[in-house]
Amino acid sequence: MISYGRQSIDQSDIDAVISVLKSDFLTQGKTIDQFEQSLCQYTTAQYCSVVTNATSALHLACLALDINSDSLVWTSPISFVASSNCALYCGAKIDFIDINLDTHNIDISKLEIKLAATKQQNKKLPDLLIVVHMGGLSVDMAQISELSKLYGFKVVEDASHAIGGAYQSRAIGSCEYSEAAIFSFHPVKIITTGEGGAITTNSASVDKKIKLMRSHGITRDISTMEVDDPWYYEQKLLGFNFRMTDIQAALGLAQMSRLEEFVKRRRYLANYYNEMLKGLPLELPDTQLAKDSSWHLYVVKLVEKKVSRRQLFDFLRSSDIGVNVHYIPIYKQPYYQSMGFTQDYCPNAEDYYRRCISLPLHPGLTEENMYFIVNKIREALN
Ligand SMILES: *Cc1c(COP(=O)(O)O)cnc(C)c1O
Repeated sequence: MISYGRQSIDQSDIDAVISVLKSDFLTQGKTIDQFEQSLCQYTTAQYCSVVTNATSALHLACLALDINSDSLVWTSPISFVASSNCALYCGAKIDFIDINLDTHNIDISKLEIKLAATKQQNKKLPDLLIVVHMGGLSVDMAQISELSKLYGFKVVEDASHAIGGAYQSRAIGSCEYSEAAIFSFHPVKIITTGEGGAITTNSASVDKKIKLMRSHGITRDISTMEVDDPWYYEQKLLGFNFRMTDIQAALGLAQMSRLEEFVKRRRYLANYYNEMLKGLPLELPDTQLAKDSSWHLYVVKLVEKKVSRRQLFDFLRSSDIGVNVHYIPIYKQPYYQSMGFTQDYCPNAEDYYRRCISLPLHPGLTEENMYFIVNKIREALN
């Protein structure tokens, strides 16, 4: 099976991991700091914390921004459930803003309309907006930032797809227009640590709280304590064990040096698909619009009813092509249905979901793979 996404591991990655295995620290060692520094350098954000995965990163970001049972969080329905579950972990309420059918990101004009209506009706405005850079294409963060100032909400970027992408010529994760950005290092994402995630921020206090919370809420920083016994530590908050290991960080660090190469290859493959799939009853991604995307996903949308999405999906899967669907609108999940979201709550998201299919896209795909995939799609649609 040609998978829709997979890791690319070379000898430099393997050597990096082996060297940690032979060292004194498998966890809580210096490789963690090095990986964090590398992410700061790349994104230009001032602070970075690496953690067990992007789900815990989102959870910690919400907690560090004081999201609690009085809070309201808004996000996009076309994302992985983690983008929204993080609000629920904190006891907050969640709501969804429909997507734009060109970018598949949150529709900013719909966001603006809903904010204005909410204010007009004297209802509760969101405390936090979690934007998702779908497939690695950045949301228009400057516009989001304007609205956040106008309506007083905070902004977190779920950049799980987006390391290696850029917005206004700056790396995604710079947090120029947000309180924090989150990355995922799951093997299907752009770079991997097996499991892993990171939070970048320019706020010293947010970073401090995240670093406390990822390790039980415990500190050994004597400047914050009154006792100076050498064994002494203090738990300041109710935290978790969300620590990444040095084994993972070593892999992450090695992968960082291959990031540019990965994104370049993904961009090339996306352009190849666009060229080769022209003229078929498919809506292809706008490569000009997505020129700074990290290209985590290559999503096409069917435009004719002659071949259904299910037929195309089954045909490609039976040809060993691991196509996928990203995503089922989050509020359609049974767990979310009890919150009262109606059919067609976000009509664009549901239209998108009916027609979308993600084709394989990862750096390891060969010309031969691509040729095979394209020909099978042609066969299915003709
Ligand atoms: C993959 C993903 C996550 C969760 O990442 P993990 O590292 O697996 O926890 C969250 N949000 C989005 C948009 C994702 O694609």
